Amino acid sequence: MFCTQCGNAVEQQARFCSKCGKDLTPALVNQQSKRDMSMHINILGWLLVGSAILTGIGGLAAMLVGRLIEARHIPLPPDVPFAVMHFAGGITTIIGFAVLAVSCGIAAAGIGLLQYRSWARVAAIVVSALMIFHFFPFGVAIAIYAFWVLFSQEGQQYYRARSADTMA
Ligand SMILES: [Zn+2]
Repeated sequence: MFCTQCGNAVEQQARFCSKCGKDLTPALVNQQSKRDMSMHINILGWLLVGSAILTGIGGLAAMLVGRLIEARHIPLPPDVPFAVMHFAGGITTIIGFAVLAVSCGIAAAGIGLLQYRSWARVAAIVVSALMIFHFFPFGVAIAIYAFWVLFSQEGQQYYRARSADTMA
């Protein structure tokens, strides 16, 4: 890195400039916190991608079960009328499809976050808030982590700077 006062090239971990003696501790702390933020945003992005995969598997499973109920491959009491079975199967399929759509949204937010897309910060906040209900209890932990990373002043500044770089 470079001295913030005289521009002299100094070692990465140097506390003082070797040329002008400037105290470089604030720059060092700043550099460290940027590294931390980059790590947190990476972790959060992958957490969202992982949640999306699990959610997607759940959605596919529900769709499959729905189809099986409709096709009467799943043994239910024989006195259940066909119309009820058909309805239950249809509803389960629709729920599965909706869950699959949600998982695509979560995946998009996670991937956008990893690529520092400017829209992805807000998308990740919305998705994390939804996850409190939809992915209980793990979603609560993910949401708290997401809010802590994305709402912190450091997180916002870092994200904005990185996404501006990405667009340039
Ligand atoms: Zn200096």
